[in-house]
Amino acid sequence: MSTERTNETSDVAEKVIRIAGSITVDELAQALGLSVTTLIGELFKNGIVATINQRLDFETAEIMIQELGLKGVRLERKNTAAKLSEEGRRELSKDAVPRPPVVAVMGHVDHGKTTLLDNLLKKKTVETEAGGITQHISAYQLEHEGRKITFLDTPGHEAFAAIRQHGAMLTDIVVIVVAADDGVKPQTIEAIKFAQGANAKIIVAINKIDREGADVERTKAGLAEHGLMPEEWGGEIMMIPVSAKTGEGVEKLVEAILLIADVEELKADVEVPAEGLVIESHMETGKGSVVNLLVTGGELKVGEFVAAGGVYGKIRTMTDFRGKPKGKAGPSTPVTVTGFKELPNFGDRFLEYPDEKSARRAAVLAAQAQANEAASANVTSTDLLRMMNVEDNSKVFNVIIKGDVLGSVTSVVDSLKLIDTKGEVTLNVVATGVGDVTENDIYMAAGENTVVYGFNVNVPTNIAKLAARDGVEVRNFRVIYELLDDAKASMEKLLGEEVVETVVGEMKVMGVFRVTKTELIAGGEMTSGKLVPGVNVRVLRKKEILGEAVVESVQKERIEAKELIEKEIGGLAMKTEKKIQLEVGDKLEFFTREMRQRKLGE
Ligand code: GDP
Repeated sequence: MSTERTNETSDVAEKVIRIAGSITVDELAQALGLSVTTLIGELFKNGIVATINQRLDFETAEIMIQELGLKGVRLERKNTAAKLSEEGRRELSKDAVPRPPVVAVMGHVDHGKTTLLDNLLKKKTVETEAGGITQHISAYQLEHEGRKITFLDTPGHEAFAAIRQHGAMLTDIVVIVVAADDGVKPQTIEAIKFAQGANAKIIVAINKIDREGADVERTKAGLAEHGLMPEEWGGEIMMIPVSAKTGEGVEKLVEAILLIADVEELKADVEVPAEGLVIESHMETGKGSVVNLLVTGGELKVGEFVAAGGVYGKIRTMTDFRGKPKGKAGPSTPVTVTGFKELPNFGDRFLEYPDEKSARRAAVLAAQAQANEAASANVTSTDLLRMMNVEDNSKVFNVIIKGDVLGSVTSVVDSLKLIDTKGEVTLNVVATGVGDVTENDIYMAAGENTVVYGFNVNVPTNIAKLAARDGVEVRNFRVIYELLDDAKASMEKLLGEEVVETVVGEMKVMGVFRVTKTELIAGGEMTSGKLVPGVNVRVLRKKEILGEAVVESVQKERIEAKELIEKEIGGLAMKTEKKIQLEVGDKLEFFTREMRQRKLGE
């Protein structure tokens, strides 16, 4: 095993392996820099007899990497749409025209990212995020001396991870904001890694220079330590001191961005069918699907037919990032459109088609390709877990998660993973996706005993019918805690029931009146608790259990009684299944017995 070698590099660089659906043993071994025999050997150790061409699903590959102890390696899901766009990226023609640069602003929290964007755009960015709905990426444009710049903003960590996955196609330039009074921080480093991984050009905005304690030189030194060498020190990175608050240096930053755009000769073709990326999508009452797109090539116009991933539609309305109607949008333009029949996924590539028929066809083909890919793995993580016998009594709870936006899907999945099952139940996320529950989800869930969870999505009537027909459970929620409670309850159900015995009272036997095969009549004093007819009783001599019986009736002062309590003396008749030789001095322990649903973590 080449653990050491990989560990050596783990602090310096992280190796990312991108998997679309599944990967062959051969490909994974190559990607890991291991011999195929080593990998097959490791699979074998875990109970899987694999051949070189066997396909492993994403989770299995992930588990193998853990098993191999490979630290610096990370797997990323490559979705089909992203793959298509990478492979199908259009070569530029000689007619290509300059296009605005697409810029992401990133940095450590509180270093002034939002303030800088506000200043650049001369407005409060938050206001444009319709009701704060944006979960992935918001896009804005500014114009400087007749030239446009497109800015992308990501509100949270999940979006950051997602943008990273699609980063290569999304951003030309990353502006890294570093506060001059705070220097390089973890998220600064994350941003640097992201930009490098996405092959984007980097500009650093050294912010808060108006502040006391701001130290531009020291900040530069910190950045140099992380591989960003300032131009004035002989490196390649433009570092612009700015104050997002006073506006000082902000224009220089804009000019630096445009300079890079010139040097990089960012271009796109216009006389081609429109294409681009889905950067946000959600449902809105009265409007249906509302989708934010970033056009990357061609010109998108109202009335045109488009397909993105497995969905298609006709552009019904189109507005710019400020909500103003727009008839057409060229390269690097962010727009909001309605007209998609279903919600496309964040990160999907969209393409324009000449008519509805070909758009629909493209969508159907893409959906099939995705389904095939998911189905093409012959070793799934469920199999693996089963074979590895991770925990002896481990049970698997299969789920498919559908959410309104990627952020919600991520939080549902993350929260589900946090349910502490003490290893007794394994949560297997079969698939996740943004948008309504679809036919494909039902097909995937059928047969495998999988529950489809919807979060803030719709379950169209025909899909509900299909689910009922195929015996698939679709559970839809608007409140995340209710969804989590339901999942927890389902996992507990997998644990089955357990017998719970509760001792309710004890008696010391003072007299034995009748002993037959089926009946015992005795008397004694209650030493604790309570005795009522119907409870179970155990006969104990010292620690030894002589037998069990059921109390049929209770007597107090020779009269039938409802109960006997502590310190009372009375008699009782018990029904037995076999003869119990009861003696004076024995102890009777009264108890109830019930079946109870087992709880997780107990
Ligand atoms: P974000 O978390 O990176 O988006 O940071 P914010 O833009 O929210 O800024 C964090 C805090 O720093 C806020 O209180 C801002 O007013 C303040 N701030 C941002 N830029 C500057 C600056 O250039 N100078 C000063 N003095 N304060 C700033």
